[in-house]
Amino acid sequence: MHLTTRQLFISQVVLLAGSGASALAAPASKMVSLSYIARLYSMSSTMSGKKVVMKNKWNRIEVEINSRRAWVNGVMVWLHHPCRKSGSKWALRELDFKKGIDPILRSYAYVPTKLPKMVVLDPGHGGRDPGAVGLGKVYEKKAVLSIANRVKAHLESKKIAVRMTRTSDASLTLKERNDYASKAGADLYISIHADSAGTASAHGVETFIMTVADCDSTNHYGKSGNKSARRGNQYDAANAVLGFSLQSNLVKRSKRSDRGLRRARFAVLKDAPCPAALVECGFLSNPEEAALIMDANYREAVARGISNGILGYITLVNRARK
Ligand SMILES: [Zn+2]
Repeated sequence: MHLTTRQLFISQVVLLAGSGASALAAPASKMVSLSYIARLYSMSSTMSGKKVVMKNKWNRIEVEINSRRAWVNGVMVWLHHPCRKSGSKWALRELDFKKGIDPILRSYAYVPTKLPKMVVLDPGHGGRDPGAVGLGKVYEKKAVLSIANRVKAHLESKKIAVRMTRTSDASLTLKERNDYASKAGADLYISIHADSAGTASAHGVETFIMTVADCDSTNHYGKSGNKSARRGNQYDAANAVLGFSLQSNLVKRSKRSDRGLRRARFAVLKDAPCPAALVECGFLSNPEEAALIMDANYREAVARGISNGILGYITLVNRARK
């Protein structure tokens, strides 16, 4: 299936080049219309309520108009910029297409060709830092270590080398975690957390990847600080592939609501030495999810989701090498 898409894309790139457009030199504000995207993927396009729905036999993209929310094959993907009218057509910023949607749908054109051999897992917090403390005194630092140990076991059973930034209740700075990932020769770096919010009603699972340079993070739209490119931005496209695989599998296994693939400049993502993501496995501030996180069956389901997400990414790299 992907050969057809690849051939189609190549013909479109030639068309673009022929018209004198240069994707590399494009300004950050350059827009790409949804009708162009639909043509590129040979998708039909229809309006359904506030969404433009594009689909072919294999894939489905939904984009909410005047919003930063999109869905790829049913999984929510936050855009950096809202879908807006450009002339008479609904359009996305080109960077949201090239560093989000397109890598997710055509991973083979974007992922590094080196097969990932070393996965570094980072159970968040630890030692003096308990992380979020949930109802019933659930400590984030304990829950995420339990989840990370389970992910490690699943990956090792598939002959993938795994190292962890901590294997006990140790205090580590964020820099120490990144330095560890670097020294361990991480090919993939996954930080594992549980969420907390001011309101008990917030719930669901989400995955964060590094915000693209000069853009706002999902939860700080219009108010991000320093937006300059960082080490983690070298892997923008691979981050999208990895993050999408994690979020899809996390939603599927946890059966919690999908808060989407989001963008943030968290320290572990900013200075990551390889493609990286941070997963949030539910809200300790929500009574139902705090109880679930205390339950070993739920932690196992979440661990399955994370390990399947990592294995899914590795499968895509393998396919791209062929
Ligand atoms: Zn945390």
